[in-house]
Amino acid sequence: MPLLPDGSFAPASSRPRVLVVGGGAAGLVIARDLARAGVAVTILEASDRVGGQLASARVDGLEVDTAAESFATRNGTVAALAAELGLGEDLVRPLERPAWVIGAGGRAHPLPAASVLGIPGDPLAHDVASAIGRLRTWRAALDRLSPLRPPEAYRSLGDLVRRRMGAGVLTELVAPVVRGVYSTTPDELPLALASPGLPDALRANRSLGAAVLTLRAASAAGSQVAGLRGGVHRLATALAMDAAAHGARIILGARVTGVDATGVTLADGEVLEGRVVIAAASAAGPAPRTRAITVAVAVLDAPDLDAAPRGTGALITSGAPGITARALTHSSAKWAWVADSLPTGRHLVRLSYDELPDDPEATVAADLRAVTGARVGPIRDLHVRTWTRTLQAAPAPPGGIAVGEAAGTTGLAGIVAAARARAQRIIGEADSTDAKAARSGGTEG
Ligand SMILES: Cc1cc2nc3c(=O)[nH]c(=O)nc-3n(C[C@H](O)[C@H](O)[C@H](O)COP(=O)(O)OP(=O)(O)OC[C@H]3O[C@@H](n4cnc5c(N)ncnc54)[C@H](O)[C@@H]3O)c2cc1C
Repeated sequence: MPLLPDGSFAPASSRPRVLVVGGGAAGLVIARDLARAGVAVTILEASDRVGGQLASARVDGLEVDTAAESFATRNGTVAALAAELGLGEDLVRPLERPAWVIGAGGRAHPLPAASVLGIPGDPLAHDVASAIGRLRTWRAALDRLSPLRPPEAYRSLGDLVRRRMGAGVLTELVAPVVRGVYSTTPDELPLALASPGLPDALRANRSLGAAVLTLRAASAAGSQVAGLRGGVHRLATALAMDAAAHGARIILGARVTGVDATGVTLADGEVLEGRVVIAAASAAGPAPRTRAITVAVAVLDAPDLDAAPRGTGALITSGAPGITARALTHSSAKWAWVADSLPTGRHLVRLSYDELPDDPEATVAADLRAVTGARVGPIRDLHVRTWTRTLQAAPAPPGGIAVGEAAGTTGLAGIVAAARARAQRIIGEADSTDAKAARSGGTEG
């Protein structure tokens, strides 16, 4: 038993070590909160770095995000976490420019201002009509007249939008946004995953448009996303350093191949005992639904892009003629810190693809020309990587705890909030176990 400064004996903690499988955002957040509360915690990370889909690369000398590059501001949790980690001064909003949509016919138009996931709050608004045409706006406005059913009555986001506002809104506005943001189709996207507040907003309103306006009013004024100067990947390093400073062990190259109620088995056969938190979507078994996404990050000289012809970027409808990419982020038109790092006329762009193009450099240049209409100079540097997004994770083993994409949550805002709530529950349970142990005179530990 440990000796206290006054010479008395304290019961050793009865808390088992917590084994966090996966050192991405979810694993790092929960491990850090546990470590700060005095829980013994080990992160087992299969790769040679922490962060998972919080990742960076040096492109033409500039360190930039290669996967997640922003976070939703709706619940304030990521900003609060960044501030706790000493990154508060580096929180940044994107520059105020619209995102654009490239329609099925190849026409470019700004995404309607008052929309969520491309769903317009006011189907008769001028920017909706110029995007989808007057006839389709009239169809969409029927949403105001027919009674709204409870959210459970709609199979998916696609089912909801088609029935309420018609196929025009679905294919021209919602599908490109869902494709760009979630790497899937609206028909495959459950409502709650599409927008966590949407089911409640539907219950509280008489139309889909009104629900959209409620969601927009509930989110912070201005942009619905924020980022970090230098890139959101900085969160991973800061989380890992703070967790380690509070006693968390981080083991890299530790691939978990088996999980049960007593602990984990590593690829080399070693068995570790402890309470398991699964923070790697493939650790509990192959995920039933995944989607690959290839991201190409390029730095190039293109003075025509100085005017940001597609605002912060463009979402591209499947089948748009002559375009392979599904989304473009014009990073140097979106983030002031990126623009400030590059000379005039030089730009940073990110294009995402369903499949790795045969000739990424030529495809990026051709797509950039087609999407923006700009003359594009030679690409100075290009970084290409294919990621796997988990759309539905394998269920955690009985009694197991899962966080992050392993728990079916996607996106940093939802993942951070849920991982922190999970940590508090584990800490609460451990505290009550300790209290019981202390009352009964201590435990072996
Ligand atoms: C291209 C792209 C762009 C994105 N953009 C955004 C965005 O702008 N905003 C946003 O909010 N979200 C974005 N996301 C999604 C967001 O990044 C993820 O939802 C989030 O980072 C997932 O965190 P996670 O910890 O759940 O999973 P991961 O980051 O996938 O972490 C899992 C970790 O577990 C490790 N691992 C896997 N198997 C094992 C094993 N068997 N044993 C041990 N370790 C294992 C992996 O190596 C990895 O480090 C984007 C994702 C991608 C790919």
